[in-house]
Amino acid sequence: MLNLIGRSCLITGGSKGIGLAIANRFAQAGATCTLIARHEESLKDAISILAKCEQQAQDHRFLVGDVGDKELWEQAVKMNPKVDILVNSAGQSQTSLLLRTPIDEIDDIVRTNLLGTIYGTKFYFKEMARARRGCIINISSILASTGGEGSSIYAASKAGLHGFVRSMVKEASRFNVRINNILPGYIETEMTATINSSARANALSQIPLGRFGTASEVADAAYYLATSDYITGTDLVIDGGYTSR
Ligand code: NDP
Repeated sequence: MLNLIGRSCLITGGSKGIGLAIANRFAQAGATCTLIARHEESLKDAISILAKCEQQAQDHRFLVGDVGDKELWEQAVKMNPKVDILVNSAGQSQTSLLLRTPIDEIDDIVRTNLLGTIYGTKFYFKEMARARRGCIINISSILASTGGEGSSIYAASKAGLHGFVRSMVKEASRFNVRINNILPGYIETEMTATINSSARANALSQIPLGRFGTASEVADAAYYLATSDYITGTDLVIDGGYTSR
């Protein structure tokens, strides 16, 4: 299906994992993608993966920077003012209990996961509203609702996206701009690669489908939201049944 021919997509965290899988899915559907992340080498590798898609759009681009910096977004809008689909996937996980987490790490998690998404939306919503068309997809997490030991800051940053989307849907719908969250459970990416074997076994025992999801399965959900004109203001859970227990 080539439903995204002629569409311009901007994907933060597009160099790896879920963001890259979404960019690849969108590129295969004919979209032109701009990727944002902090490391140039992995962005270049990601662009060469997208270039292998045998679709019309081949002018995929990247921008190096931190989504928590306002200057990055000013640069992004200058480079690419017209974006039909914005995917906020850049994210940072938490590695310790609150008492052991340095203040700088707290700032980084909140800046990336929450502020980065708010900035991206703020900078691109205006142009989408003018065009009377747009779609914003935020990659949240089931931890936003379940919480988790050692995930307090991460969960708080993702839970903030819930209130953000619930509010933005009221501001954006009159301009035909849709905004949704995807809430993945455990997905096989670099972010989950460091989970130790006993924690992994424990997680698996709580997933009815008995496995972690793949980034391309999350990309399928993003594609569904990108092409479903009547879905807005929702949280789409993709967790193998984890939260249904
Ligand atoms: P990865 O660690 O594989 O990829 C993270 C991506 O975000 C990379 O491209 C990274 O590139 C980029 N990134 C991180 N911080 C910043 C920043 N400050 N500014 C710009 N880019 C940044 O993670 P996943 O693909 O697993 O995660 C993607 C999203 O999905 C995240 O928001 C995560 O919280 C969420 N999620 C993941 C789950 C999982 O099980 N994997 C479960 C639930 C939610 P670089 O380092 O070069 O900046």
